[in-house]
Amino acid sequence: MTDSLITVKNVSRKFSIRKGLRSIEFYALKDINLEIPKSSIIGLVGESGSGKTTLGKITLALLKPTVGEVLYEGKDIFKLAKKKEYRRLFQYIPQDPYASLNPFKTVKQLLMEPTLYHKLARDKHEAMEIIHELMTNVGLTPPERYLNFYSPQLSGGERQRINIARALVVKPTYVVADEPTTMLDASLKSGIMSTLRDAIIKTNISLVFITHEISLMQFFGPNPTVAVMYLGKIMEQGTLKDLLSEPLHPYTRALMHAMPVADPKYRTERSILLKEAPPPSPINRPPGCPLSDRCPFAFDPCNKEEPALKNISSTHRVACYLY
Ligand code: SF4
Repeated sequence: MTDSLITVKNVSRKFSIRKGLRSIEFYALKDINLEIPKSSIIGLVGESGSGKTTLGKITLALLKPTVGEVLYEGKDIFKLAKKKEYRRLFQYIPQDPYASLNPFKTVKQLLMEPTLYHKLARDKHEAMEIIHELMTNVGLTPPERYLNFYSPQLSGGERQRINIARALVVKPTYVVADEPTTMLDASLKSGIMSTLRDAIIKTNISLVFITHEISLMQFFGPNPTVAVMYLGKIMEQGTLKDLLSEPLHPYTRALMHAMPVADPKYRTERSILLKEAPPPSPINRPPGCPLSDRCPFAFDPCNKEEPALKNISSTHRVACYLY
């Protein structure tokens, strides 16, 4: 029996945009394979346009791939997601804490309604016990202070704690947190990261954490798997320790360049700068390796054919002709 919760198989996703009279198609994701084991934490790291949010939404059955399939415990996730008993198992924590909560509902309503709808409590009294415990776990204490507030009465950090509580109150098995600290002040980031980590660790939930800051993955310790994405491809994948101690792909090494490192033993001298070039865009992807126009090591084969992901060890793989 597999311990894989979600399996992403050969997934590509195309979008199209209109430019004048023309419609231009482009790949937001290209040929992605990813295993998300049960009770695991996986980071999807990359800059804007890397496809990380598209991949996160596809694994939640919120977006269909153009090609490929996504399996939940071996079954088609898009068929399962149509059933109410499965829908609650896949939850999304959005980036924007200001736009994601209904401003006309109190905190109590926001948490009570899904609890009762999914029959996770026998009655309102039991639902309140669940809500109290969860609010305490996400740092909204004492809960009574917040229950009758509407979201506009809360700070950005408090709203994001409510979003975490809303995702967890329905007892999911799989959560995607999409840059949940990006819109918060730096002073609030660490509190939200610790809250999310502690809440996830208390459960058997699998978490995909989407971020453009690889340094944030350090909140989850050295063992989570991190997939570094660029222009819709996974460029390198390994444990956080693999990537921090031995980053191989030139793009990963560039991400390291400005990264603050909490533990000096992970400090690397392998960080590099990429060549100056226009910002990457999936609409203007270069031929061959997606990084070929910015990579200081590009050589003959790089702009001809895309390199495939190659295993370097049992946990570490990289898509680059240098390896
Ligand atoms: S395949 Fe070539 S262009 Fe791409 S990252 Fe490796 S060396 Fe650079």
